Amino acid sequence: MIDLKNLTIKKAHESIKNGDFTAVELTEAYLEVIKQKNSELNIYLEVFENDALKQAEEANQRFKDGTAVEMTGIPVALKDNILYEAHVASAGSKILENYIATYDSTVVKKLKTAGAVILGRTNMDEFAMGVSTENSAFGVTKNPHDTKRVPGGSSGGSTAAVAINSALVALGSDTGGSCRQPAAFCGVVGFKPTYGSISRHGLIAMGSSLDIIGPITNSVSDAEVLFNTIKGEDAMDSTSISQNTENKKQSSKMVIGIPREFLSIGVDERILSNFNESVSKLESMGYEIKDIKLPNVKYTVPVYYIISPAEVSSNLARFDGIKYGLHIDGGGNLLEDYLKSRGSGFGPEVKRRIILGTYVLSSGYHDAYYNKAMAVRELITEDYRKAFEEVDVILTPTTTGPAFKIGEKVNDPVKMYLEDIFTGPANIAGLPAISVPSGFVDEEGSKLPLGIQFIARHQREDMLFEIGKKFLNE
Ligand code: GLN
Repeated sequence: MIDLKNLTIKKAHESIKNGDFTAVELTEAYLEVIKQKNSELNIYLEVFENDALKQAEEANQRFKDGTAVEMTGIPVALKDNILYEAHVASAGSKILENYIATYDSTVVKKLKTAGAVILGRTNMDEFAMGVSTENSAFGVTKNPHDTKRVPGGSSGGSTAAVAINSALVALGSDTGGSCRQPAAFCGVVGFKPTYGSISRHGLIAMGSSLDIIGPITNSVSDAEVLFNTIKGEDAMDSTSISQNTENKKQSSKMVIGIPREFLSIGVDERILSNFNESVSKLESMGYEIKDIKLPNVKYTVPVYYIISPAEVSSNLARFDGIKYGLHIDGGGNLLEDYLKSRGSGFGPEVKRRIILGTYVLSSGYHDAYYNKAMAVRELITEDYRKAFEEVDVILTPTTTGPAFKIGEKVNDPVKMYLEDIFTGPANIAGLPAISVPSGFVDEEGSKLPLGIQFIARHQREDMLFEIGKKFLNE
């Protein structure tokens, strides 16, 4: 029996190399967990069993040939919005239910080059809009810590997959918190890299100025290995950037900023006390703690819910029932084709965002909403720029509370939107951020995980890895 619970990429690599188990046995072990638990938790929408086993055999060969790298033979789960050639990618939506990717996303290309094993595609909120996976057209994913609760979202499937060891690592996407918030709800690590540091080519777009693919893992070290495998500039994404590796700083000198004022808005008492314990722990580890001010960051949610729907309304215009996905015949009338295909293909939250986004971009309202939000986005970015003159990383809780119950917030979109208060700012400002597990709270007989979030300057993911590893004692 392979001890999946304590496995890391590094340990798996060493074990395959030493002959403790083969890459095929490792993949089979994960497939077995999926078989046992997937029907209860609804994590994977599809398992690519045959392809995965074939990739695992190829990985074995690479170990024999001496061409194996760290990711060779490592089983990965993919969020359902990341294209993998000849496999369905539905983005959790009816409109793409039968859409088969015609090319590999850049991240999948890089995973293939490294010899990783792709286990399957995981459930998500439709087009990555949501915080609970309740907006998936294919049913909610259940939180493994308490199946009455949501796993978070929108990358809820990828996160639950890692939490129950039905994948060693997973990829999610993060537009306003979708790797970090579910990670906090499921007790794993969720990482959102600097905007542009990973190619978006082949990621089904939500908000193009905010989207980034990110690792979801059981350890910070695994997030680092996965990030290093998939990062880099790409000719297919003009917003992608190459990694800047200059001036690494030593941890003993790292100063941690806490935006105290910002934390006082609507946060669960237990989250605050867990957060304060984490701060004391970091202080006792020798980090200097400094109070900082981020005066405009409190406007993140309204700014995000103007800019992201605006981009959604534009990005989702391509789903017209003609070129992609679901087509419903409008009786020979093109407009009817559009209306019927989009009307029945998109779920209610996606429709709400398209309507909202179209409205804020419409002539007469563009200045009042979209342009104003873009101006405030600058102010938020400037708040961080100033704060990073004084501190190296900024610490906040990841969420305002532990995982909520399935159905608890479905009738109140604003409550759902407020979930993004701590995670959204890093997307608005394009900064790297990581959520790491920080403990548990007892609720109705379950132990529910919590997370804290570190944010760093652009392209200083190295600082996040360093402090994250120290915090988790890796
Ligand atoms: N909760 C946010 C939204 O619904 C963020 C989702 C995401 O990061 N993809 O838009």
